[in-house]
Parts: sequence; C-alpha cells; structure tokens
Amino acid sequence: MKTKQYFFTYFLLTLFLSGVSLAQQSAKQPFFKAADGMQWLSTDLHIHTVFSDGSVWPSIRVEEARREGLDLIAMTEHLEYQPHSEDIPHPDRNRSYAIASDALREGDRLEVINGSEITRDIAPSGHFNAVFIQDANALLHKDSLTGILEANKQNAFVFWNHPNWDKTGIARLEPFQQYLVENKLLQGIEMVNETTYSEEAFQIALDHNLTLMGGSDIHGLTEWSHGISSGGHRPMTFVSVPSSARLSDVKQALFEGKTVVWHKDIILGKKAYLVPLIKENLVVTQAYYPKDKTLMQLTLSNHSVMPFELQYLGAYSFHEQSDVFRIPAGETLHLKIKTVSKKERIELPFLVLNALTAPKEHPKISWDAIPQK
Ligand SMILES: [Zn+2]
Ligand SMILES: [Zn+2]
Repeated sequence: MKTKQYFFTYFLLTLFLSGVSLAQQSAKQPFFKAADGMQWLSTDLHIHTVFSDGSVWPSIRVEEARREGLDLIAMTEHLEYQPHSEDIPHPDRNRSYAIASDALREGDRLEVINGSEITRDIAPSGHFNAVFIQDANALLHKDSLTGILEANKQNAFVFWNHPNWDKTGIARLEPFQQYLVENKLLQGIEMVNETTYSEEAFQIALDHNLTLMGGSDIHGLTEWSHGISSGGHRPMTFVSVPSSARLSDVKQALFEGKTVVWHKDIILGKKAYLVPLIKENLVVTQAYYPKDKTLMQLTLSNHSVMPFELQYLGAYSFHEQSDVFRIPAGETLHLKIKTVSKKERIELPFLVLNALTAPKEHPKISWDAIPQK
C-alpha cells in the first residue's frame, strides 16, 4: 500500500515537473510568426494587484506572465479606487510597478512598464489606462481629466477601458470621450476586455483611427479566468515591431496603431496588420498531382498557436473535407482538390472565419497553388 502511494506521488510529481518545463519551453516560441526582421510582441497592458482592487501581489503577475510567455505587461492600478488601502497603505502609487520590476529575473524575455487606471464616474465606462507613464503620483487628481492631461504630458499611451461597461453593453462616445478623441488625448480603445468583445468599440476604433486593444483586466488569477492549463489564454494585444525592438519602439507602434488582438481563439485587427499576420502563419506548400490522378494535393500549415477556421469560396470541391474546416495550432492539413483535369495553377480563396477586420467582417485570403511538375 505504502509503495503504491509512493509511486503515485512520484508519478504526480514527475507529471507536475514535466508540465512546468513544457510550459517554459512553449513560452520561448512566438505566438504568431512575423515577416523576416519583425516580431509580434505579446502584451497585456491592463493588470491589477492588491495595490488597487486585485487579489494578488505584483510578483504573482510577473510569474503568471512569464509562464504564459508574454513579452510585456503594464501594471495599471486604479488611482482613485483603493479598497485595500487600510491594509496596504502606499502613498507612492508607483509601488506595484516597482515590485513587479524587482520580480523580473536575469534572462527574462518579459518586461514590465508602469501604468495607471484613471477613473471618472460616468456611463459608459469612464475608465482610462495610461501606460508608459513616468510617475503615477502625478496623475492623481480630483478631476480625472487633469489626470489624463498629465498622462499625455508624460507622453503616455492612453486608451479607453471597457467602453462597453454600462447597462446596455453598447460602447458609444458620450461628450467626455468625444472631447478626449477630438483633442487627441486618447490614442486607443479596448474592444476586448476580460471576457467581453465589443463590436461597437471595434467600429469606434475604425471611425476615429484609435489603436485596437485587448486586455485581461485581471483581478484574480489568469488561470481561474481563462483556464490556461487546459489550453485557454488571456486576451492579448500583439504589437508589430522590429525583432530588435526596444520599449520606445513598442510605444511608437502603439501610437501608430500596429496591433492585433487575440481573444478566445479569435484574432481581430485592422486589415493592414491582420491579413499579413494570417499569411505569415498559414502557408501553402508542396502542391503536386500524383501520377495518373487529377486530385491536386497540397499541405496547408498553421505556424501559430491558435487554430484557424476556414471556409473555401472557390468552385472546386475537396476529396476529404467540406468547404469549412479547421487547422489546429501548429498542425499541417493535407488537402486533395478535385480539379478534374491537371491545372498549371489554381487559386484557393478562403474566408478566415475566426478572424475579424471589422465588425462581422472576415478577411478573405487567397493562396496560389502551383503543382510541381
Ligand atoms: Zn476599469
Ligand atoms: Zn481595470
């Protein structure tokens, strides 16, 4: 009995240890392939700890992000809302960032930046994140507008949080947000927050040329909210930067709107950035006709960490698939296309069903298949 127990414990321990090393291994691979000389930097720029209304110490945020393979996180504590202030008094509002920075280790790919969540009590949401700030203390004012002005003075990147937060769930620009947009005090908008996706926020971003953002707004543990250990993921914003990018390049790219957002295995972004990302990650190779057959064969490989769902829009039919199919993360699919006669070249047009370039708009991607002779 004792031996049995021992082996069971040993088995669990081995499983646990191998699980940890696997998680660390996968963390080194990029989530999405980028063009040569470029990278898609993984970020979560909306995070809370006990230094506002979150439940964990900042070092836990760093460990979560490290395990999930993130490149950059921002500590964005509420400035005005401080429910733990009696137990954790901190006149210096930069403490969360300072502690998180100290939790970084030599060799970490992960970086941490300073931020704050500025709150105005209006509907829809009057919450705004300022990231890449110099000093959180200087943002704390009775009037939230003064805080936003100060954030802009510090050359921070400012975005509107969960604009869908009110009784209707509909994001819309009310006079205060309109004022911020018109005066260029607001550069981005969360179309994804926590577990929600707002089509209306997506449209506002397109109409007013705001950067598309997605943040976890995590208060508890990311594992509890997003089931990381069972294949889930937190919302992330991917920023397109050169491979050799520094933090200043990331900030610049955010100002320029070079982002895509990953949410519940859907990828969303402006056409100019999302379509190239899909083309880098879904690749057609090895088209050929087997001897004496007119079934063109080829492989479609998915180099990303998310599955892609495709709908074929062309006139041919497939031997083993219907017009709708899924390519799991990191896998290769073999397609046999019934072209009736041998073709020199065919076009393969698809809709990417789990990608969005505007509300309800799925990008159309086309590949050329040129069979080897
Ligand atoms: Zn908020
Ligand atoms: Zn928040």
